[in-house]
Amino acid sequence: MLQKQLAKPEIIRLLTDDDNEEKLLHQADEVRHQNVGDEVHLRGLIEFSNICRNNCLYCGIRRDNKHVTRYHMDEEELIDTAEKAAHIGFKTIVMQSGEDMYYHTDRLCRIIEKIKRFNVAITLSIGERSFADYQSFYNAGADRYLLRIETTDKNLYHRLDPQMSWQKRYECLLALKEIGYEVGSGIMVGLPEQSIASIADDLLFLQNFGVDMAGIGPFIPHPQTPLKDAAGGTLSLALRTMAIMRLLMPDINIPATTAMESLHPQGRIKALQSGANVVMPNVTEGEYRKLYELYPGKICVNDTPVHCYSCIGIKITSIGRKIGSGYGGHNNKQKKKNLILI
Ligand code: SAH
Repeated sequence: MLQKQLAKPEIIRLLTDDDNEEKLLHQADEVRHQNVGDEVHLRGLIEFSNICRNNCLYCGIRRDNKHVTRYHMDEEELIDTAEKAAHIGFKTIVMQSGEDMYYHTDRLCRIIEKIKRFNVAITLSIGERSFADYQSFYNAGADRYLLRIETTDKNLYHRLDPQMSWQKRYECLLALKEIGYEVGSGIMVGLPEQSIASIADDLLFLQNFGVDMAGIGPFIPHPQTPLKDAAGGTLSLALRTMAIMRLLMPDINIPATTAMESLHPQGRIKALQSGANVVMPNVTEGEYRKLYELYPGKICVNDTPVHCYSCIGIKITSIGRKIGSGYGGHNNKQKKKNLILI
């Protein structure tokens, strides 16, 4: 195995070393190949509500953005979308939304139970809820949870997420882990006033926490937010950060994020060749895709779920990889939940 325990100064060096970027990305690709193989796991992403009670400065669907046409799918629509995605071949459904309380605990549990009948793993990405809620979703059949810590620089976090608490978000992650979810977290790179040293801290945080999945994406300024004039992150920095994550945690799931492809037409392919082993194609239908605009330049807004599945499949095979045949959970954690899948 090529991975080593990297100390903070070494991570900072790797993040800033322009001359050796190719070497780093290649090394991460090698570590990915040796530890998680050549399968790329596909997750069907349903963006089921853009209604949000929070007001994060960076996010296009923040509460105070009055230009957004708000929507949420109703129960039937959401279950239908999941069923279609399962028929196309997705083995994991990711349900993502703003923090929309229309989706109260009972409603979500009902939906999870029904979607589970399609023999898929379920990932939730719906923000901060109570321990009891997380437990209920888990009992209803949810397998995994995505909650990015966004940054471990607490001052930066509190500037960017007014009214939110870094400690509370961290406690949510601890709760999810305790309950038994496969926990995904992650960060944005290129946030205003985010230092390279703090990105190094973020990486070590994710490693120490023991995430099962780490999503790393460039921050892309949205024109209808207070950060519209910020510089934003680069693909290069996002790829380096992701590659170092792979060296630090050789066998976790790492997605080639959609935000990377929004910056570069080959962004996800580059990511898959620099340590990533997961892609989350959008399976949201119709107008909703456009309306769930976290950042500008979002890809595939006019495509259909079937198109996205085959398009990414072609890209994956063109680089000598194959679509994952199983549920694609981290390690053997999936086994326990697989019993419930049948
Ligand atoms: N409400 C859920 C889902 C948030 S959207 C939650 O709180 O977890 C998923 C992710 O999109 C966020 O965690 C954030 O990291 C990312 N995101 C939001 N705005 C962005 C932007 N302008 N550029 C890039 N990524 C963004």
